[in-house]
Amino acid sequence: MTRAILSNLGRAALDAFLPRTCVLCGELISSGPYRASSPDAEGGRGRPACSASPLCRACAESLVPISGPRCRCCGSPLISELATCMRCRGRDWAFDAAYPLFLYDGAFKRLLSAYKFGGRRSLAAFFAERFAESLQDLWPGRPLVPVPPRPGKLAERGWDQVEEIARSLERRGFDIVRILERRSPAQQKRLGRAARLENARSAYNVRERAAVPPELVLIDDVVTTCATAQACAAALRAAGARSVSVLALAAD
Ligand SMILES: [Zn+2]
Ligand SMILES: [Zn+2]
Repeated sequence: MTRAILSNLGRAALDAFLPRTCVLCGELISSGPYRASSPDAEGGRGRPACSASPLCRACAESLVPISGPRCRCCGSPLISELATCMRCRGRDWAFDAAYPLFLYDGAFKRLLSAYKFGGRRSLAAFFAERFAESLQDLWPGRPLVPVPPRPGKLAERGWDQVEEIARSLERRGFDIVRILERRSPAQQKRLGRAARLENARSAYNVRERAAVPPELVLIDDVVTTCATAQACAAALRAAGARSVSVLALAAD
């Protein structure tokens, strides 16, 4: 094959011909297609949760989902007997509940990093599968609102990690409503927590004339301070949503 033809083939197409290696450890993957933890799990709307795994069995098993008692507000693991964590006590979040799937740590952190910064865009399908499993259990049938990227990001990088997962979910039949937009280009990462909460509050709004379903699930990659979830949920509530829940890949 000539270099020109090769360059025209996307990474996804090449993956179909080349032996698959684990995204995390580089080991050759010899097992069959990845299956969700439950053999009966469906990949959303009746499609099987089955796709080529990006991980070897050992690495897949090293991803530890959050389990046990969780804060009823932000979904982070609890160490005390109380129903809410320190951060959420006395707070009145605009979202009903947040549900992160994994701790942003160890193998999961490396996996997300390979996706966001390492060019492993095809991992979107793997993350979408994890979302699909939880959505079936937690909020079946609810339309999903992806947290939008900062303005200019799509033009600069060509893709956005949350939007890519949303597209994968859309292909599975989930209803994606892109009604949020992000106003401020300020880089939230550089701000301290207090400034971040304040800044985020006005950073998101609902598009003009958008139809807002009454019950929604906001989807994001990582929840850290819940500032983004709060800002998005507040905007959605102000625009008429009755209930906003949050599903995230991980909690930091
Ligand atoms: Zn591996
Ligand atoms: Zn909490």
